Parts: sequence; C-alpha cells; structure tokens
Amino acid sequence: MVEKLIHVTEPTLPPLEDFVPYLEKIWKSKVLTNGGPFHQQLEAALCEFLEVKYICLFANATIALVTALQSLRITGEVITTPYSFVATTHSLLWNGIKPVFNDICPHNLNLDASKIESLITPQTTAIMPVHCYGTPCDVDAIQKIADEYNLKVIYDAAHAFGVKRRQESILNFGDLSILSFHATKVFNTFEGGAIICQDKKTKERIDHLKNFGIINQTQVVAPGINGKMSEINAAFGMLQLNGYANAREKRKEIDRLYRKKLEGIQGVSCLPPPCESTPNYGYFPILVGPQYPLRRDALFQKLADNHIHARRYFYPLISHFPMYRNLLSAADSNLPVAVKAANEILCLPLYPELLPSDVEKITNLIIN
Ligand SMILES: *Cc1c(COP(=O)(O)O)cnc(C)c1O
Repeated sequence: MVEKLIHVTEPTLPPLEDFVPYLEKIWKSKVLTNGGPFHQQLEAALCEFLEVKYICLFANATIALVTALQSLRITGEVITTPYSFVATTHSLLWNGIKPVFNDICPHNLNLDASKIESLITPQTTAIMPVHCYGTPCDVDAIQKIADEYNLKVIYDAAHAFGVKRRQESILNFGDLSILSFHATKVFNTFEGGAIICQDKKTKERIDHLKNFGIINQTQVVAPGINGKMSEINAAFGMLQLNGYANAREKRKEIDRLYRKKLEGIQGVSCLPPPCESTPNYGYFPILVGPQYPLRRDALFQKLADNHIHARRYFYPLISHFPMYRNLLSAADSNLPVAVKAANEILCLPLYPELLPSDVEKITNLIIN
C-alpha cells in the first residue's frame, strides 16, 4: 500500500458543482473583472462577516502590502519583524523603504513592543507588525508608541482572517490591515488579498491605486499598479464564505486534539491559546526545545520519512536572506528571540479534512 502524504495544509474546496452556477453568471454577464458584481458582493459580505468598515479586494496580499505603503506615502524606515513570510519585508523594499528589524516576544512570537522605541530614528515613519499564526499583536502598546512618535501602523494580517480580540475584529486596529486569501490560508480565493481601512477617503485612494491610478476615462492621478481581484476569484470567495464556519469548527477540534496529545512531552511546547481572543486555528506551531531528544530538523526529517510534511514557518528568518542580511538591524545579536524561535519552530499539519487518526499518527511519532 502506498502511504498517504500529509502536507502541512490542504486548501479547503467546496464541491465543484456548487461553483458552476457562479461561473454561469460570469459567462452570461461577460463581466470578468474591474469591480464587477461579484467583486462588489464579496466586499460587502466580508465587511459584514469580518465586522470591518471598509475593505479593498486585491489580486494577492503582496501587492496589497505594496499598495498599502503607497497609499499612506510611507518612506524612510519602517520597524518590522524578521519572523514572518518574506513578502512582509519585500513590500518595504519594493517601495524603497529601509526595513528595521525588531525582535519578537517569546510567548507569542509577535513584534516585541518594548523594543520599538529603541529603534526609532528621525527617518522612521511606520511600524509593520504581523499577527503571526493569527495571534493578535499587543495592539495597545504598539498604538501608544505610534501616537507618541506620529508613526503609521500597517498590520500584515495575512494569518488573521476572522480573528477577534475582546469581541472586536483585530483588523480594526492600526491604520491599515492586510489579509491574504492565498490557497494555503484559512479563507482562500485561489489567490487574493485585501486591505482593511477605517475611512471612505482612504478606500477611494486605495481603489484608485490598485487600478493604475485611474479615476475616470481621462484622468490618472497616481502611478498606480494593477492589483485588482478578478470576478472568478471574487465569486469563489462568495462560495467559500458559506463553508468558513464549518471549516473553522473542524480546525478547532484538531487544535484541541493536538494540545491534548502533546501535553507533558518533555521539550515540546505549543503556543498558549491567546487570551481574550477568538482564534481562527489556522496553524499549529510547536517549539522543539533542548529538552527534546531530537533537534527540530531531525524531528522534521523523521516526520518527512513517515510521509508527514510539516513546515518550518518561519525559518530562515527574513533577516538572514541575502537582500537583508547586511542591514545593521539584521544582526542575530539584535534578534535573539527570533533566532531561537526560527531554530525550534515546526508547524504541524492542520486543515479541516485532517483525520483524528492522522493527528494520532503525527503525535505518536513525536512522542516516540
Ligand atoms: C501568505 C502571506 C503573505 C503573502 O500573501 P500572498 O497573498 O500570497 O501574496 C504575506 N504575509 C504573510 C505573513 C503571509 O503568511
């Protein structure tokens, strides 16, 4: 028997036949993109579902991050985390901005707000934190510093779809938040992304920027980009939204199973469930510490040898990549917590179709 491969995630897909009526509508209307009916419907539906004021849909989160920085005219230096997917920092480089790496907190692996002030210079214009694995950042401490130094706050919220803190959407903090709807994320439109903003004027500016800077047939007011989401992706998003709550329940149950099975294993720690928050159970990260008999990479290999493809999110650190490693702030001595986390982290498979027997198999391999 060929053993089943288990990947870290599998995209959630509704039955194919459910999508056909949506496609028929697109074929009939011949509206394929440029803010068509499905695009409008999905913006309205997501505003309601996520409890946010304004949303601008994008072709992907990376172009949304680049556009978010453009929309607020961010320049100079931006304080950010090295412990993220590389697109976070790439969006700064694409805008000619210098990234300044700030270490993370050991308990939630998010930007350590107590270190921000020491990195602020006269060139600093913004902070770009990441709600890593969907765990809310210390938004109050970050905002306090931003207010004091007149900095903008742009959250990379690619992991934080549907996440709330004290009953309020985490996407309502800071100036802008960016979501990803990539195939690997908890809510996917194949490819896709969005910017959440707090006022109508900003939404209009972002909408112009994602459409070449065009405002009407004869006027172009900014050097915009093409960041538009197509009707196919938007229609698929409308269908996906129906299945989201059910998929989240399934992920929640897998999260519970993992925590139960991994309890008390020497040297293996799960991130504590964030307090006062509604998670989306998008990831299941564990830290493989020195108390565990194998190093992280050896456990990673052992799982791979047994057809379990866990992922080392986030290793290597962004600050180790060639286009960043010569920055002063990229020195490991500036980022001890991030360096340790990157060497110990392993994200275990987590997706709605993962079976309890799969969790059993994975945890047994970790135990023995
Ligand atoms: C997935 C991801 C992105 C990029 O999203 P795309 O939609 O693939 O461009 C950016 N930041 C983080 C933290 C991510 O996980």
